[in-house]
Amino acid sequence: MTKRFKKLCTAVCILLIASFAFSSLFIIAEADHDCVGEGCHVCQAVRVCLNAVGSISLLLVGIVSTLFLKSVVLFCSYRKYGAVNTNNLINLKVKLSI
Ligand SMILES: [Zn+2]
Repeated sequence: MTKRFKKLCTAVCILLIASFAFSSLFIIAEADHDCVGEGCHVCQAVRVCLNAVGSISLLLVGIVSTLFLKSVVLFCSYRKYGAVNTNNLINLKVKLSI
């Protein structure tokens, strides 16, 4: 992972967290606004924020479930082999000849 890629990932994470936080704050702040009924601009903005919060929440659920499944696989591998199984041809330094 290059330094530039790490910076890009950090920036994307910061933007996602900021959009989640500000969308949530806007929804909370405008929860009891003076609604004019149909065509209310605040209600449209709240709907957009709700969609953003829902999408980011779905993304977070995907990331957390992936990390959980990965940790379960590593835990099961550790219990079975006593360590993470890293036996492959490269680590065992097997010389392949034709
Ligand atoms: Zn409204």
